[in-house]
Amino acid sequence: MDYQPLLEHIRQEIEVYAHDGKQADYIPALANVNPDQFGLCLNILDGRTYHLGASDVKFSIQSISKVFSLAVALSLLGKELWQRIGKEPSGTAFNSLVQLEYEHGKPRNPFINAGALVTADVILSLIDNPKEFFINFVRTLADNPDINYSEEVTRSELSCCNLNASIAYLLKHHGNLHNDVHDVLDFYCTMCSVEMSCEDLSRAFMAFAKSSQPFSHAGVNLSISRVKRINAIMQTCGLYDESGEFAFLVGLPAKSGVGGGIVALYPSRYSIAVWSPRLNSKGNSIMGMKALELFTSETEESIF
Ligand code: GLU
Repeated sequence: MDYQPLLEHIRQEIEVYAHDGKQADYIPALANVNPDQFGLCLNILDGRTYHLGASDVKFSIQSISKVFSLAVALSLLGKELWQRIGKEPSGTAFNSLVQLEYEHGKPRNPFINAGALVTADVILSLIDNPKEFFINFVRTLADNPDINYSEEVTRSELSCCNLNASIAYLLKHHGNLHNDVHDVLDFYCTMCSVEMSCEDLSRAFMAFAKSSQPFSHAGVNLSISRVKRINAIMQTCGLYDESGEFAFLVGLPAKSGVGGGIVALYPSRYSIAVWSPRLNSKGNSIMGMKALELFTSETEESIF
């Protein structure tokens, strides 16, 4: 099947949502992004690639980085990681700290901020040059040496990260952060600042879509069963407190970020990345969700 005509059709269908929502502005640097952009890239595992709109424009991946940090932390710690982080949807906002208190400092899952602060802590504890290691891993997955951190976005987020700092101190209080809180926040904000295009993201997530092969990239090694677990957590927790709705509408494991990106995959078939900065009240890209909903509905290719 040639997917290009379908993608062009989807682009027209979602135009009615082009001015709904607005880009994230709680991180000052993200407020400066032009909200009226849309890109998409689809990689079929047989080697075909399709592009739409601004598919080569880099944007801030933000929480999508939490999939990469989970992969690294799981490869380093193995199943011991699940003593420090749960695998249940949180039912709360990504930056909520209420559950941490009554769960004694064990985050509900690796994709809320509390969970990703713990994966960042694991990486800091066990890797000598964590920033270099992490960016090299992402570049290898995406097969693009020109992927970088944004110093501007890192600085901007560090200037206003009181809520993440509160989460980090609560984790520290419960013994679930082993490094200095400032070092963990610095690494966490740095990994969130990575800039990638839809083309980069879709290519990078092919490694998770190739779920019948062991994962071995740039020193990160995961068995088939561990890749399955990462995909399962994307399915249940990848779209903030809208993961149920996303499963209902789209039906694919995926991860979103407040930069407006969403990357989704169909195990053993394809990966697809979309980007549009205008977000709904849950923090997910409005046009991105619509495009994915139409894609899996029209192709009848969702995991359900
Ligand atoms: N760095 C962002 C934060 O901690 C990530 C938000 C996101 O994309 O969910 O608020």
